[in-house]
Amino acid sequence: MKTGAIVLAAGNGSRMHSAVKKQFMTVGGKPLIWYSLQHFTAAGVDDIILVTGESDIEYCHKMVSDYGFDRVRRVTSGGKERYDSVYRGLCALKELGYGENDVAAIHDGARPFADAEIIRRTISDVQAYGTSIAAMPSKDTIKIARKMNDGAYEAVSTPDRSACWMIQTPQTFFFSQIKNAYDGIYADPALQAGVTDDAMVMERVLGVKCHLTEGAYRNIKVTTPEDLMIAEAFLRAVE
Ligand code: C5P
Repeated sequence: MKTGAIVLAAGNGSRMHSAVKKQFMTVGGKPLIWYSLQHFTAAGVDDIILVTGESDIEYCHKMVSDYGFDRVRRVTSGGKERYDSVYRGLCALKELGYGENDVAAIHDGARPFADAEIIRRTISDVQAYGTSIAAMPSKDTIKIARKMNDGAYEAVSTPDRSACWMIQTPQTFFFSQIKNAYDGIYADPALQAGVTDDAMVMERVLGVKCHLTEGAYRNIKVTTPEDLMIAEAFLRAVE
């Protein structure tokens, strides 16, 4: 069994409102993407595919070589949507010979705090349950809302909070199964609508219900400027 990681860094980070893409911003003296590459390396995965924007490939190659990330086998360009970028990563793992019993962990490069322990937990839960997505129970009450004609929102209903989980990454699967699920959304593009994570592709195409594995509340996705401040604070706390 081989274990491969797909680290996604091909988003345009528009919610950061910054000239530098969020995945390459310096946090704690390192580019944000460094942390994910470091954690997957520490977790002992065999192969890492780094998916980035076409214009950032050269920068990423240099960063990978400067920091000596020797498990990074490919730096490949992503696509328009997150699922397009994941698919490019899966195709790269396929080219490396990944098959039936191998494992693929898909991770948002914008989540620098998914440490080796979380990564290993998802890999071991794939052996036990067949699928594994990092998650934490929602601390907030969640509302289903709808947009009104004037552009405002109104709360329509309230799911039972004890049934609401915040979904994170890594999301980890047997390679052939996740590749098969992704092939399904390319065979029928109607299935691509609104896809925001990998578990959704498994649910939609294969009807598989994914196992929730304990992530961490600190496993945030650095999306907006205040998330950068939170990330800096977390890093200072562990120094
Ligand atoms: O946009 P979102 O916050 O869901 O992005 C999650 C992760 O997916 C980020 O790490 C981002 O860089 C990546 N992504 C990507 N290709 C895209 C869109 C997002 O690799 N087209």
